[in-house]
Amino acid sequence: MQRLLKAHALHGRYGKNQSRALQLGQQGALYQSRAVAPRNCLSAAPVIVIGGGIAGLTAALELLSAQREVVLLDRDVEENFGGLAKESFGGILVVDTPIQRRHRIRDSVALAFSDWTRFGGLSPADGWPYRWAEAYVNECRAEVFDWLRTHGVRFLPMPHWVERNGNSVPRWHIVWGSGERLALQLIDRLRSHPRTAALTLRFSHRVERFLVSNGRVTGCAGLREDTGEPFEVTGDAVLLAAGGVNGSLDEVRRHWPADSGKAPAELLNGAHRYADGALHAAVAQLDGQIGDLSRMWNYAAGVRHWRPRKPDHGISLVPPRGALWLDECGARFDPPLLAGLDTSAQVARIARSGGVSWQILNRRIAIRELAASGAEFNPSLRDRRPLAFLRDMLFGNRWLVDTLLRRCPDFIVAHSLPELVAGMNASDCERRVNLACVERAVRDYDAAIARGDRHADPQLANIETARRWKGD
Ligand SMILES: Cc1cc2nc3c(=O)[nH]c(=O)nc-3n(C[C@H](O)[C@H](O)[C@H](O)COP(=O)(O)OP(=O)(O)OC[C@H]3O[C@@H](n4cnc5c(N)ncnc54)[C@H](O)[C@@H]3O)c2cc1C
Repeated sequence: MQRLLKAHALHGRYGKNQSRALQLGQQGALYQSRAVAPRNCLSAAPVIVIGGGIAGLTAALELLSAQREVVLLDRDVEENFGGLAKESFGGILVVDTPIQRRHRIRDSVALAFSDWTRFGGLSPADGWPYRWAEAYVNECRAEVFDWLRTHGVRFLPMPHWVERNGNSVPRWHIVWGSGERLALQLIDRLRSHPRTAALTLRFSHRVERFLVSNGRVTGCAGLREDTGEPFEVTGDAVLLAAGGVNGSLDEVRRHWPADSGKAPAELLNGAHRYADGALHAAVAQLDGQIGDLSRMWNYAAGVRHWRPRKPDHGISLVPPRGALWLDECGARFDPPLLAGLDTSAQVARIARSGGVSWQILNRRIAIRELAASGAEFNPSLRDRRPLAFLRDMLFGNRWLVDTLLRRCPDFIVAHSLPELVAGMNASDCERRVNLACVERAVRDYDAAIARGDRHADPQLANIETARRWKGD
């Protein structure tokens, strides 16, 4: 059984306008008291960075290089420095890279911008999100790809092609070592920075509000979670990098996109548990600008983590292209839900149909195609073991399949359809699955495969198209 999973997408670093990076728009709050000083401008008062995820880390690193004093505050413990990026897969959208060119992929800033604005429904009237998209496509090659490489981050030699409806060409560049390596590498660079003496790191510091003086933000205040003591920090500027609002499922429901039906009764969480929107509220109180929070990023195939590290902890499965995707009653979505094209559209259709879906696959498809996002479920990538990674790519991630089948409560294994449907109905899903619907869906799909008529079934056509790009 699969539930919708909330996670925040796209690694980004703070650009000059210090808005947050999202592939399909913008989400997040921004409040700064003054623009960050240009390079080489010395200032005695520190810049306060709130949040030690990938955004805060990157900002801190750049600020140190720009000769600033930095105080970085994070609510979490030091062991979790790096935030959600440490758990992530590590795919980054970049435009017109040498890796793309090596594969004769003709990408350009103009193409990427047109893809982004078309797919994300952005127009100049959207203001900041539109300008963010424009800035990102123009600068990501130098400011993300080249910058990361100068900091020792390496990428797989072939880009992946995700969200095909929104990307005319493959642009997803995967960090060798996953998001965990990405975060650890930047933490290492921060700690070994020549100006590391200008950096103060404070963990277990929960920021609750901003300090304002003469109409200008001069610092922040909150509570130390380790001692219970209050604290205040003042500085020259405050940069908020405390994640989105998605760590709170109440916030997700509150801002659920109007065109995506009703928020499902049951959602799983893939976001940082402290990215709960509390500081968005503090920004709003000061009349700060907040992006459109309904432009959120959800995944369609979430299953429960068997060893949760946070409430409602979900795992995001990468929907297998060959699996039969059924609604909560067991009928195949009509037209079929197609994997790899448009995640938000999948989410909207599943939400409108009740919020729960099922995918049926045999062991062969599972071995070849079943994947889960994140460092935890891709150990050969995370641990940078080239031979094991190649084996997983060519023959499938058997460890993952076996682990999910053995441990995940949302997987059901059976040797016949009646047995399978009985298992589905024994799960805690409220709606009963109809055996006749499932049998019809499987029979029709098998018949289309047997006929070999790939164009009679959009899912088979989708598989055929996907196979043409060897990176997938
Ligand atoms: C399994 C998985 C796979 C993913 N794969 C990808 C991928 O391939 N590509 C991609 O682009 N994205 C991916 N993502 C999403 C990506 O990891 C996140 O979007 C990104 O890491 C968010 O970074 P951030 O710095 O904005 O926020 P976060 O990492 O959420 O960091 C926010 C920080 O702020 C701190 N904080 C929050 N509130 C307070 C407060 N009040 N006071 C002080 N500190 C506070 C938190 O403790 C935290 O350390 C994935 C996510 C998951 C879960």
